[in-house]
Amino acid sequence: MKASNDMVVTMHYTLTDDSGTVLDSSAGHTPMNYLHGHGNIVPGLEKALEGAVAGFKTKVTVPAAEGYGEIDPEAVFDAPREHFPDDMELAPGILVTGGHGSPLTVVEVTDSVVVLDGNHPLAGKTLHFEVEIVDVRVATREEMSHGHSHSGDGHHH
Ligand code: ZN
Repeated sequence: MKASNDMVVTMHYTLTDDSGTVLDSSAGHTPMNYLHGHGNIVPGLEKALEGAVAGFKTKVTVPAAEGYGEIDPEAVFDAPREHFPDDMELAPGILVTGGHGSPLTVVEVTDSVVVLDGNHPLAGKTLHFEVEIVDVRVATREEMSHGHSHSGDGHHH
């Protein structure tokens, strides 16, 4: 079977940045799976895997625009320090949860403000994927209606 819309694709992958640093990998873990055609993985990778079959191995370079997006300078903003609990650990690099549950990265902390960045940590980066397709199967009716795969661990609704 070939990866196409409404197929569940299972794969091993390793994601590296331009310098070859591994950012994420399924090596040594259960392979990841996703429902093809529903935007569950970055667009550039989904496009590259269209038509792939079990056993297919590929290297895909995904520009930021087809990955987690370009860095949006407007997503960096100041929040009053008093909006955070006194005992909360705030330091550059720490992730906090924003008002809509979206992750924000702390950029800088002063006595009065906390500078936050709402860009995805991988925004602006070219993504280098090494992928091996393990399995391709037809999605169940339930998976199609939910818009995601139900295989494997860590699935929540
Ligand atoms: Zn579901």
